[in-house]
Amino acid sequence: MTSVRTTCAYCGVGCGISATPTGPRSADIKGDEAHPANAGRLCSKGTHLGETVGLTGRLLHPMIGNRRASWDKALDLVARKFRETIDRHGPDSVAFYVSGQLMTEDYYVANKLMKGFIGSANIDTNSRLCMSSAVAGHNRAFGEDVVPASYDDLDEADLIVLVGSNTAWCHPIVYQRIQAARAARGTKLVVIDPRRTESCEGADLHLPVKPGTDVALMNGLLAWVAAEGATDPAFLADHVSAPEDFWDHVRDGHDLWTTAKTCDIAPALLEQFYKLFAATPRTVTLFSQGINQSIRGTDQVNAIINVHLATGRIGKPGAAPFSITGQPNAMGGREVGGLASSLAAHMDFAPENVERVGRFWAAPAMATKPGLKAVDLFRAINEGRIKALWIMATNPAVSMPDAGRVREALEAIPFLVVSDIMADTDSSTHAHVRLPAAGWGEKDGTVTNSDRTISRQRPFLPLPEEAKPDWWIVKEVARRMGWRSAFAYDRPADIWREHARLTAYRNDGERLLNLRSHATIGNDAYDAMEPFRWGGTPFADGRFPTPDGKARLVLTRQMEVQEPLRDWPMTLNTGRYRDQWHTMSRTGLSPKLARHREEPQVEIHPKDAEALGIVDRDLARVQTAQGNSIFRVSLSEGQRPGEIFTPIHWTDRMSSGGRTGLLPRPLVDPHSGQPGFKSTPASVEKV
Ligand code: SF4
Repeated sequence: MTSVRTTCAYCGVGCGISATPTGPRSADIKGDEAHPANAGRLCSKGTHLGETVGLTGRLLHPMIGNRRASWDKALDLVARKFRETIDRHGPDSVAFYVSGQLMTEDYYVANKLMKGFIGSANIDTNSRLCMSSAVAGHNRAFGEDVVPASYDDLDEADLIVLVGSNTAWCHPIVYQRIQAARAARGTKLVVIDPRRTESCEGADLHLPVKPGTDVALMNGLLAWVAAEGATDPAFLADHVSAPEDFWDHVRDGHDLWTTAKTCDIAPALLEQFYKLFAATPRTVTLFSQGINQSIRGTDQVNAIINVHLATGRIGKPGAAPFSITGQPNAMGGREVGGLASSLAAHMDFAPENVERVGRFWAAPAMATKPGLKAVDLFRAINEGRIKALWIMATNPAVSMPDAGRVREALEAIPFLVVSDIMADTDSSTHAHVRLPAAGWGEKDGTVTNSDRTISRQRPFLPLPEEAKPDWWIVKEVARRMGWRSAFAYDRPADIWREHARLTAYRNDGERLLNLRSHATIGNDAYDAMEPFRWGGTPFADGRFPTPDGKARLVLTRQMEVQEPLRDWPMTLNTGRYRDQWHTMSRTGLSPKLARHREEPQVEIHPKDAEALGIVDRDLARVQTAQGNSIFRVSLSEGQRPGEIFTPIHWTDRMSSGGRTGLLPRPLVDPHSGQPGFKSTPASVEKV
């Protein structure tokens, strides 16, 4: 059978895949050697994608309650209920909660319906939980949400700093690329992470900082490079602006000794890192959820960017701050405005942008202000302010912080729609209408990876039974709500062209996102589209997309880190396993992937375990103010004493324990609205 070139279903590395169907519901999976992100390599998750394309657990027909319904009946009901709710309670009484698993085209249509036609910006995405602090940090520093780096920079760097990122597990192909750079050119690798993760095994230096002290660490580094004369005065003068008191603030209280005390690491270790950084112009600082998933996430992002701007390490080969995203299309969602805080094409809600997008769409009810971000959105349901919700391709009853309250919201909301590939999830069990969506291998569209490379996801399997693409489902609801001509799409290429035209609409170089050359792309050319990176090399010409063309240093202050409390003596950190993805609806189908970690474990330092009378392989209850769950104990010298780690993947559908989502607080970063999953006060007891 013929091979089809597509893109991996999982992480933001965005690896190219060559898929060859081997039967009605099976495929042989290989890495695409021509794809720039992976050059043929795949990690364990990508390699075993072929085991996950069967129909086990799939939702194959529209369902109203527990009864099978026709598409017409289900879509009519969704459109009628949303229309009635809007008529009675106004446009802000409805919401969409979408996902980085959607194609850019799906995202575009959902965003257009909510922001241009319903008249609310209450559309947020699970990407809010993943990288919205990076978005806010980029906007503050650069004037636009643009990642000023590419994977090629990793090949050309002399120093790579991983901050809050277990890249070896969560972005394995990037980690392999880093290791190749180490072998080829002696690139040094520093890992900054409270945990001694697998990424430390191939590193030159590990800084086990106290959780939540990254601002202090980066401000200390900035003070160090300033004192050592290692800033780039010419770059600062020509391309960077700063608040008046910025440098006084940096010099005040950020000496090596104070910083080491704040971060709870040895001064000699900190000095070793600072010296290495100061002496290595070609530095990439790669950061991920350890930075973003924090109540101080945006400041942490800007503290990293500040160091790169002050040393001129941006817009040059091998030198950049680099946010690496979790999901396959978190970036595409950002590009079409899939966050409640942005409009399409990276625009914010400035009046001229509202007017511009509204005019382009000929929108009858353009949203004029940001909508509710994820945590606030579910809180608004709990409070009765949102009365109709449509969840697409995600499972917030498991993945949101304080997931028990989210579940209560889903139980209580008057009208809930879930479109998903799975028949039965912790969220869809509460749905009044379930709509069967296309899955990976059936989807047709584009995704954008962490370094702005846009790739095609192409179908190589037929849509099973009555499943439909998400863009089709949304446009059918829009048409039934009365907006037929604005949603007259026949294929993903129609949507792609409109998105490309919008990025170029009244954009004469004002914004870096500009897909003008795709505005008239033919259907065949869209089908044959090769991976390409938009925006060229941002800042290579020294201009940033701010009014004065200069990037901005942002004053960041280390917030006080909460000390352990009597009732909550431990600090809970959460994250991923190497071979699982989100709530395991796909990876859970692969027996080979299940072998890596068969059950959810709480990792705990042996000294803490001894004090609690716990031994390896015991069962232990992790308790927080929000809830509790039981995990298998795994003793780990890689944990700092007083800190524990649990995985995010297990759901009520699979296990009575291991429910990490029940535990974190619903506290968010004030700029991005991203929840702080990484440091929740907790206690542990033997069961
Ligand atoms: Fe897929 Fe990410 Fe693995 Fe690449 S690194 S194969 S994109 S999961």
